[in-house]
Amino acid sequence: MSNITGLHHVTAIAGPAQENLDFYAGILGMRLVKKSVNQDDPSTYHLFYADGEGHAGSDLTFFPWAHMPRGRDGTGLTNEVSLAVPVGSLSYWEERLAKHSVKIGTQATRFGERALPFSDVHGLALALVETSDAREFTPWTGSPVPVEHQIRGLHTVRISERARARTEQLLTAGMGFTLLAEENGWKRYALGEGGSGRVLDVEELPNVTRGAWGTGRVHHVAWRVADDAAELAARKRLHEVGTPTTEVIDRFWFKSVYFNEPGGALFELATDGPGFGIDENMETLGRDLILPPWLEPQRAEIARELPALVTPAELTPASAE
Ligand code: ZN
Repeated sequence: MSNITGLHHVTAIAGPAQENLDFYAGILGMRLVKKSVNQDDPSTYHLFYADGEGHAGSDLTFFPWAHMPRGRDGTGLTNEVSLAVPVGSLSYWEERLAKHSVKIGTQATRFGERALPFSDVHGLALALVETSDAREFTPWTGSPVPVEHQIRGLHTVRISERARARTEQLLTAGMGFTLLAEENGWKRYALGEGGSGRVLDVEELPNVTRGAWGTGRVHHVAWRVADDAAELAARKRLHEVGTPTTEVIDRFWFKSVYFNEPGGALFELATDGPGFGIDENMETLGRDLILPPWLEPQRAEIARELPALVTPAELTPASAE
């Protein structure tokens, strides 16, 4: 029995923060649940988008590092993030994305589910996947997207590896995944029974060189653990299978442990709690710049360095559409 229960969040590197906000809150209709700074580089934002309550597993976060070059496709990276939407929603989304001039791909069936691939404004590969799996989800009443079509949370991620065997070994022996299915060169691994938010897809591309971080690429994928004890147990298990990790780092809204999987992709363990409501009112999540307590004394300088963010014009009640 694994202590890891599913996807917690995915963090990616974006270009300018305003464009990122306009895309995820304005077009995708996700809730900005936390406006904070990168704890290692407080002169840049860390923006968190999620469902109405910021449930663990619904959360896509960004470091807007506009100065960074574009990332490069390749192996050893998480190359696509898919987001769960209700069955029957893809035609709504195709029309909505086209209306906003978002470049969309062709709908496809993946492991029996309908998927619509597209890219965000800075080139991050995304897909919307229709699922009827039960999920923890709270609608976002401020979203421009009607509740019946809103994004439910993270569905899966796709990782490309030059050699899959060592990654598979870590996933199964170290993290509690089982191989669920194989299709078109992709292996799908599941936590528990699998289902939306509890699967991971890995392909093997032996002739493709290492990709590189940059704007439009995933920085890391975080996996859920229920609490501190589960995190320590999962960390211990990683050590037993020879995977070095960091110490537990307090990210305030959750506690984190980082490690690289053998192919090179950066993973994290993150606790389900305490959650985004710990330092601001749930009603006004995302409105104010939130700093971890140890950065509060520098609030004035930090705020001066950050670009101003304007609420996207699209953020009108869902009934307006
Ligand atoms: Zn993280």
